Amino acid sequence: MSYEYDRIAQPASGLRLHLNENTAGCSPRVLAALHGITREQAACYPDYDEVTRACADRFGVSPDQILLTNGLDEAILGISIAALRRRSNAIPEAIVIVPSFDMYPACADSAGGRVVEVSTGSNFEFPCDAVLGALTSDTRLIFITTPNNPTGRSVPFSQTLQIARAAPDAIVFVDEAYADFSGESLIGHPELSSHPNVLIGRTFSKAYGLAGLRIGVLIGASAALGPIRRILPPFSLNACAVAALGAALDDVAYYEWYVGQVLASKAELYSALNRLNVRYWPSDANFVLVDFGRDARRVIAGLAERQVHVRDKTGDKASPNCVRITTGIVEHTRACIAALEEVLCGEES
Ligand SMILES: *Cc1c(COP(=O)(O)O)cnc(C)c1O
Repeated sequence: MSYEYDRIAQPASGLRLHLNENTAGCSPRVLAALHGITREQAACYPDYDEVTRACADRFGVSPDQILLTNGLDEAILGISIAALRRRSNAIPEAIVIVPSFDMYPACADSAGGRVVEVSTGSNFEFPCDAVLGALTSDTRLIFITTPNNPTGRSVPFSQTLQIARAAPDAIVFVDEAYADFSGESLIGHPELSSHPNVLIGRTFSKAYGLAGLRIGVLIGASAALGPIRRILPPFSLNACAVAALGAALDDVAYYEWYVGQVLASKAELYSALNRLNVRYWPSDANFVLVDFGRDARRVIAGLAERQVHVRDKTGDKASPNCVRITTGIVEHTRACIAALEEVLCGEES
């Protein structure tokens, strides 16, 4: 079985609703900070102690509980190597929920681990009991995504903590890439201090609109971050990313505006889908998974013809007939809805 990560083809033009990026772009303050980079800053290895402190303040943790990474993807790779390095004859196991983010099996497999897949329930609910049942003495890593990608469904804190309790020798990685949009985070949970095996991931790619600059962060007990710090290169963030992150953290108003746009966008998309009698799963993230049934391929092609690019999930056995649509700023969502109405209603008349 191959777990290669398929890089998605880049459309030449049109509305990008296929990668859950910020469709408005980054804060203008970020651009100003990038323009402000000096020749010396470009020439020197970056120092990111200050921005690490700013980031720690934002998440309400201490700087030694923070590890900034080159996108959350780098953190996922680092965790996979740290957890799945072979220490005995037994092959370390990583539990991956299906469906979820494709990077987990790709990294776990590359790091030499055995990927153990556990399927979500019939409505994509988190399979807590099945994960508990899949634990073995070789389980070293468990990937939990909340809200999950591509389903948008959240995992109750109690279930994550129950798994952390049951697997004290494994790293429980809680990927909160979309927690900005749900408003709920395990960071700061009072029981977390009893579970030093839990590491939480956040990214600045989605709500903050910095995907092109590659900035993620891993949050957890200082001792648990140690092995990952040793694996990752010493300068994961470049000078542009450091400047951008400081400016992005400062511009709280922009961030809140964007999160508000996503909420309003989802409401408009839901009512359009209800009107069109199309099935979807209410999402806690900045995208919605939609089941177009036998129309799925025609919808994807029809939207692309109208310059709207969505993510084709029909090839995944866990989500046949499904399409994932990013809900960014309202204006873009309206353009998507208009194109969808043309594709679904226009041609049949
Ligand atoms: C987008 C995404 C990431 C990766 O974020 P980067 O910081 O851009 O590397 C990680 N996890 C999930 C679930 C994602 O959807």
